[in-house]
Amino acid sequence: MNKLELTIHCPVCHMSKINRDLLLNYQGVDHYFCSSQCLKRFQSHPHLYVGDPQHGLSVKQKNQEVLKRRRIRLNEVIGDDVKKVLGESLLALMGIREITFDQQDLFVTYDLLEVSLETIEKNIEDSAASLRGAVLENLKRGLIHYSEECQLDNLAHLSKDGGYHQR
Ligand SMILES: [Zn+2]
Repeated sequence: MNKLELTIHCPVCHMSKINRDLLLNYQGVDHYFCSSQCLKRFQSHPHLYVGDPQHGLSVKQKNQEVLKRRRIRLNEVIGDDVKKVLGESLLALMGIREITFDQQDLFVTYDLLEVSLETIEKNIEDSAASLRGAVLENLKRGLIHYSEECQLDNLAHLSKDGGYHQR
């Protein structure tokens, strides 16, 4: 009913610091975003962030997080200085909850509703570009993307049907 209502919080991360240039009209309502990362997240699965009269509140509006923990295998064991650069860069991303290293593995805990693995990997690649050695294995990445998309589809389905909608 509130078709004229303006979202002044970013619908993805709920930060109130929005960018007026990042505007998207979804189902007749204008939404402003804090960053292009959040805008992209919204565009791929809008119903996770905005509810509607038929299906009620969205997953995000119910204040739920979808925490994921992923292992990203690096090509070599990296030194503490490199860990520091990678870690700081990742933690500056929206939606990253925790970063830990174990030998060649980097473990990232993140909220799937706020950040995609693609964005995380892009961030690592950008950091790695200036750091010799630490590069991702492409094959593993493909598999990870696949499972993440499956997870989101399941979530979307649950959110839409409210879980118990049978007739
Ligand atoms: Zn945001």
